Amino acid sequence: MEYYSSHINKLIEQLSHLPGIGAKSAQRLAFHILNMPAEQVAQLTAAIKGAKENVRYCKTCFTLTDQEECPICRNDKRDHTTIMVVENTRDLAAYEKTGKFEGVYHVLHGAISPMLGIGPDDIRLKELMQRLQGDVKEVIIATNSSLEGETTAMYISKLVKPCGIKVSRIASGVPVGGDLEYIDEVTLLRALEGRVEL
Ligand code: ZN
Repeated sequence: MEYYSSHINKLIEQLSHLPGIGAKSAQRLAFHILNMPAEQVAQLTAAIKGAKENVRYCKTCFTLTDQEECPICRNDKRDHTTIMVVENTRDLAAYEKTGKFEGVYHVLHGAISPMLGIGPDDIRLKELMQRLQGDVKEVIIATNSSLEGETTAMYISKLVKPCGIKVSRIASGVPVGGDLEYIDEVTLLRALEGRVEL
């Protein structure tokens, strides 16, 4: 890529670090950005910077938010005794879109994967267990139906059950290996309603 100026190369290189962006896409994006009006480029960089500087984890559920506690955790109308455990903020958003879940969430930020060397201590499990010391009646495990998601679900159920709290797992309808965030709302709702106690 030496035929480009070093500035262009730098931009292409940075873009190619993004997930799903190969060398060709990075080049295409770089030239697109160079053709954008300066004002639009400024808005893009400000949005990236603003998000990075202001977004943090909710102190209760660990979803990404720009406040100390996210709007869901702060909402008195939500049922704080029912906690749905999801792998990431995108999965939380998928369930929120259904508008039918009235409980609160806990975001693990990953799943247990012995293959990738991700253990229970690498996700927000300790924080979940701390929350269970409060008034919690049910933990709904909504991790993905991948091997990692299932492993995580089993692990959580073993941890939570001795606390005398009901543990359930979202039901069928979610295809095996399927990522929650790509599943339509009706299927998600059916999976929630048909959850089975573990
Ligand atoms: Zn929260």
